[in-house]
Amino acid sequence: MIYDLIVIGSGPGGYVAAIRAAQLGLKTACIEKDKTLGGTCLNVGCIPSKALLHSTELFWQLSHEYAHHGIHVANYAVDFAKMMERKNKVVAGFNKGIEGLFQKNKIDWIQGSAKLLGGNAVSVNGKTIEGKNIILATGSAPVALPFLPFDEKKVVSSTGALAFHEVPKKLLVVGAGIIGVELGSVYSRLGSEVVFLEFMDRICPAFDLGISNELQKILTAQGMKFHLSHKVKSAQVGKTVTVTAESGAGETQYSADAVLVAVGRKPFSEGLGLEEVGIQKDPRGFVQINGSFQTSLPHVFAIGDLVNGPMLAHKASEEGVAVAELIAGKTPSIDYAVIPNVAYTSPEVACVGFTEEELKKSQVAYKVGKFPFKANSRAKATGQEEGFVKVLMDEKTEKLLGVHIIGAHASEMIHEAVIAMRLRATAWELAEACHAHPTLSEAIKEAALAAVSRPIHL
Ligand code: FAD
Repeated sequence: MIYDLIVIGSGPGGYVAAIRAAQLGLKTACIEKDKTLGGTCLNVGCIPSKALLHSTELFWQLSHEYAHHGIHVANYAVDFAKMMERKNKVVAGFNKGIEGLFQKNKIDWIQGSAKLLGGNAVSVNGKTIEGKNIILATGSAPVALPFLPFDEKKVVSSTGALAFHEVPKKLLVVGAGIIGVELGSVYSRLGSEVVFLEFMDRICPAFDLGISNELQKILTAQGMKFHLSHKVKSAQVGKTVTVTAESGAGETQYSADAVLVAVGRKPFSEGLGLEEVGIQKDPRGFVQINGSFQTSLPHVFAIGDLVNGPMLAHKASEEGVAVAELIAGKTPSIDYAVIPNVAYTSPEVACVGFTEEELKKSQVAYKVGKFPFKANSRAKATGQEEGFVKVLMDEKTEKLLGVHIIGAHASEMIHEAVIAMRLRATAWELAEACHAHPTLSEAIKEAALAAVSRPIHL
């Protein structure tokens, strides 16, 4: 059987590429080594983490916020096993959903580990199949510390942290990036004492510094502890885990029931046979591609976490669509400058475009407009007053350069900024669009008004 396209990996990059290719009439197969479809995002990433974040957020609201609204609940308790079961059900539902989409689009799903054999041949389960085109979408894997290998029980990656059997009394989190603060939030809300050890002098380095600092302040008020500029150097794992970290104050030991190592992810291409067929990787292991997603072999493409760029599901999916369309002879484009990034903490953080630090570094003259949610009527009415919106615009042209939100529902609100930036709008154009009242989104309008020095509610 010769396929028009073989996709290797069924994460949000691979499965979306397969569907789009099939829609465009390409006879497509998708090879996935795991038993279920959906990749990291669905099985051990975005979806299970957001399921647990939502469940624990409800518990937090019940235990910390309901009383302010005059609602008193006499007896409540967490059934952790049930919470995990719900999370697993959500994932399983989507696994079936992708299977259904594959059937609908007549995509052959082959379960097994794929290896490139050179030319058009791919080996899977001891058989060889051929594809006129091949997309590599094998994603990424968590980075381990050499002295702290994952056992996924006491020393866990995000995968283990999404599958604990009980809530650890004390949880150390090495790395205060987005995955760390999301999963730290889950267990903190469930009663764990959560302590972060972070190598850098700030949390969530992908975000604008002002936003990261605000997030740290809020998470600290929620009970999480942050030790910044701490380099974890060694560890002992027994009944508990003890790690030694070095900081300006010397060496300190920290013990806990479990440690989550969330120091980043690396591209995953083990067993694919890239070296044998001559596909180049960069020194960090990312597969090298040109502007058309082609690897050093022109009929072999690569997308998603396996290639350079933000390790985000929606970035992988955009690339999946684009590469399928390219193969089908279309001319798609991706606007990498306006890919949103979100942390689903409470409150949420969502941003798009440049940070203030990036603008300073590249010496762009910019203006800032900021609006706090405590001055927003909907936030006051609902009691979700934490955080602010920050709009960055070019001083001369007033074009939007970045929009950064820390506040309730930021993940949903960010998209008006994404569209505005995609359409190269100015801060004034964003500000003059009528926003419904009372909404949290009015804070975006007000921040844009503040950038052009015309705020109303400040
Ligand atoms: P993956 O999703 O990693 O899929 C790759 C697939 O390839 C896997 O299923 C793997 O089994 C398969 N594979 C590998 N090698 C082979 C082989 N040789 N043969 C066959 N199959 C193979 N991103 C967001 O945008 N939003 C979020 O909220 C978010 N939350 C996250 C939370 C956590 C805890 C984690 C870990 C990640 C999160 N991410 C989030 C990141 C997101 O999951 C990734 O960016 C995304 O999954 C990358 O998609 P991909 O298709 O490139 O690869």
